[in-house]
Amino acid sequence: NILGKPPGEPRLEDGYVVDKQIGKGAFGVVRLARCRATGEPVAVKSISKAKLVCKEDVKDVQAEVAIMNLVGGHAHVVTLLSTHEDKDYVHIAMELCAGGELFDSIVEAGNFSEKKAAGVFRRMVEVVNHCHELGVVHRDLKPENFLLTNKGPDGELKLTDFGLGVFFKPGERFRDLVGSPYYVAPEVLRKNYSHQADMWSLGVILYILLSGLPPFWGDTEDQIFKMVLKGQLDFKSEPWPRISDAAKDCVRRLLDMDAGRRASAEQILKHDWLVKEGVALDISL
Ligand code: ADP
Ligand code: MG
Repeated sequence: NILGKPPGEPRLEDGYVVDKQIGKGAFGVVRLARCRATGEPVAVKSISKAKLVCKEDVKDVQAEVAIMNLVGGHAHVVTLLSTHEDKDYVHIAMELCAGGELFDSIVEAGNFSEKKAAGVFRRMVEVVNHCHELGVVHRDLKPENFLLTNKGPDGELKLTDFGLGVFFKPGERFRDLVGSPYYVAPEVLRKNYSHQADMWSLGVILYILLSGLPPFWGDTEDQIFKMVLKGQLDFKSEPWPRISDAAKDCVRRLLDMDAGRRASAEQILKHDWLVKEGVALDISL
């Protein structure tokens, strides 16, 4: 019993009518479902217990639920609705984000105007600031894990997937090599890091929002890691000559190789570029 629930708790099927698959991840699937009581559509992430091979994997699932409970309630975090557990699965029922991954909106747009990028990015920094204030590092920030409630003009941005999230104490260092190649911070590759690693990932996301290309890339994972450890930023290629110095400065403050000097979420929220440009959220194309 992973979630430590007493017997007789409602089963997933008691609360929801489960429908088609809408997402897939390392440990299971995400499906559309409908709440029996309210008729509301929701998303259910079902984590296969068979894939939880060690104690660490089990702890990670427990942490994912605990973190969603702690940081949920913020305007830009996917709301946890209920959890369930049966013989084969842990189920996490959550608010449905029908607009899909921000990743797909970026691919569709190529890149965003500065105003659009700043509107999206300010929300990202706000929610990461909220997590860090509560002592949570996400460790897997990327456009696949930011979802849109809908694709219309009133769509909102929501952070999800706390599967690699951990609680941190001031001064605590982590050594697990986790995350995704394009977004991973150099100090994570060196296996000695803390919450500042999230700010690096945000820098990578901002670079992509503005230009449509990742700042550090290669044909293999090792080549990408080599580029990350070099930390060389290309602001010469298109479209960078047309992008404001303020936006570039914001990227530079985040993609600082020195984690101690790197801007915190609180500092970036006060950055001129975000304050001036980051007002409206408009993902609609
Ligand atoms: P994993 O840890 O396996 O990456 P995620 O929690 O990121 O799992 O979910 C995988 C994918 O499922 C997401 O990238 C997204 O496309 C989809 N998904 C997850 N949660 C929701 C949701 N609440 N609403 C809509 N789609 C979702
Ligand atoms: Mg994910």
